[in-house]
Amino acid sequence: MPNMPIETPVPPVQAPSPLASPTRRALLCTGTGVALGAALAPVELVHAASPPVAPAAPWAAPAGNPPARWQNWSGIQQCQPKRFLVPRDEAALAQALRDAPTGPVRCVGAGHSFTALVPTDQWLISLDQLSGVSEMAPGKDTVLVQGGTRLATVSRLLDAVGLALRNLPDVDVQSYAGAISTATHGTGMQLPALHADVVGLRLVTARGEVIECNAQQRPELLAAARVSLGSLGIITQAQVRVVPAYSLHRRVWLEPAMQLLERAPELARKHRNFEFYYLPFTGYAAGIAHDIDTSGQVLMPHAADEDVLRDLRRLRDWLSPFPALRRKVAGWAIDPDQREEAKNRAWRLLATQRPTRFNETEYHVPQEVGVACAKEVIAALEKRNDVYFPMEFRFVAADEAAWLSPFYQRASCSIAVHAAVGEPYDYLMSEIGPIFRKYQGRPHWGKLHDLGAAQLAALYPRWSDFLALRRELDPQGRFLNAHLRKLFGETA
Ligand SMILES: Cc1cc2nc3c(=O)[nH]c(=O)nc-3n(C[C@H](O)[C@H](O)[C@H](O)COP(=O)(O)OP(=O)(O)OC[C@H]3O[C@@H](n4cnc5c(N)ncnc54)[C@H](O)[C@@H]3O)c2cc1C
Repeated sequence: MPNMPIETPVPPVQAPSPLASPTRRALLCTGTGVALGAALAPVELVHAASPPVAPAAPWAAPAGNPPARWQNWSGIQQCQPKRFLVPRDEAALAQALRDAPTGPVRCVGAGHSFTALVPTDQWLISLDQLSGVSEMAPGKDTVLVQGGTRLATVSRLLDAVGLALRNLPDVDVQSYAGAISTATHGTGMQLPALHADVVGLRLVTARGEVIECNAQQRPELLAAARVSLGSLGIITQAQVRVVPAYSLHRRVWLEPAMQLLERAPELARKHRNFEFYYLPFTGYAAGIAHDIDTSGQVLMPHAADEDVLRDLRRLRDWLSPFPALRRKVAGWAIDPDQREEAKNRAWRLLATQRPTRFNETEYHVPQEVGVACAKEVIAALEKRNDVYFPMEFRFVAADEAAWLSPFYQRASCSIAVHAAVGEPYDYLMSEIGPIFRKYQGRPHWGKLHDLGAAQLAALYPRWSDFLALRRELDPQGRFLNAHLRKLFGETA
């Protein structure tokens, strides 16, 4: 074994979201949650609903010495790497890659992907020590983000100098490099995914060489590397476009599901960020809109996400054999006139916390077929009486920025279906996946899907260009684990 001062036996602690903020889903649920909670509370005394199984910590040292076991956020992806490395800087990372075995060397961010992108039985590398944002100053339009920086940290540091990321996903615990590597996105008809704001990258290749790419220097590498699943190199830095810090006004309301579904495109055109959650077996959906707010007010209602999930689960636990009755009770418990509003800095409203763990699939379909696709997904979900998690529907703008972006040259609707940890989730791929594919859906790289190279090649116009560049940069396939080999059709 080479001398590795960068190696540490201590597993990294997953950074908690620094702020216990009320959330989009909380507001969704404050209305429904209060009503459902009040209606269902007495029944709880009789029926003890089984709580979801809590997965172990992402890094769990087994009895005895390391190597530690790794698992993703939901616990379904696991591995026992021979070595776990946390390089202290880019030079140490490059040295490590020069010394690395030929077997899969994988990089991990916050472990928030559901697909098997991370597992390796060889070396696992974390950039937790390469964290921070520099080149920041009021009025600047780009900053330099270290690859391991968590999104929450990026937002806080930017806010301190009056800057912000243009949009955010549903949670902000991801590492910046991990987030862009799977094309992580938020919602907004005019807002592209995070990687579209990356104007330059610095990577360490499988040979341990440091390379840079931007509009002037290797622009084709930039287009490939923005969304690259950790397969081209390890991203140590990103030059990122930012905007002046902004505040948002959030409005949440309930509406009959099919009515809101039909109105969704119009609402997405009207509001900066619009999305909705379909509440299974209730007949209702919750619309959530965010618009720029210049009032300077701060309004943060109490978060109630967990209450609503608990109530939806109770309804399922007690009444799943009787769907008509389940719907009736839900209709009686929900007060559709309830509204919620919040005002605050954008990053405090857009990202949220997820105490209840789940598994998830998400596909991105062309915007013009989003509503039709969602209707079919809802019909399929309501054939399964065990479903209770809300289905999420978002809008994402097209980009030309990245060859493997699911939004490449395609404005999209993103439709996500969840299943609580400890409950069956295969149906997300076997029953819901084919509906997405019928509508030319491209899967979220970090969320459950079972597509292989042939299907992916048909969905991505620059697929073969990406594969050629990957082979050039990593001819030995050092970065490839079994999942990536399947995606890229690499058998050797
Ligand atoms: C609760 C929850 C909420 C979510 N919400 C959203 C959402 O709103 N929108 C959305 O689009 N997605 C969402 N996701 C998915 C998540 O954003 C992506 O899976 C994201 O990639 C996770 O980032 P991470 O830091 O955990 O990366 P990991 O899951 O650890 O890794 C993801 C990929 O990035 C690679 N990688 C990590 N670091 C580097 C690096 N430095 N250089 C090169 N490659 C690297 C890894 O090798 C891997 O291929 C959510 C996931 C969860 C669990």
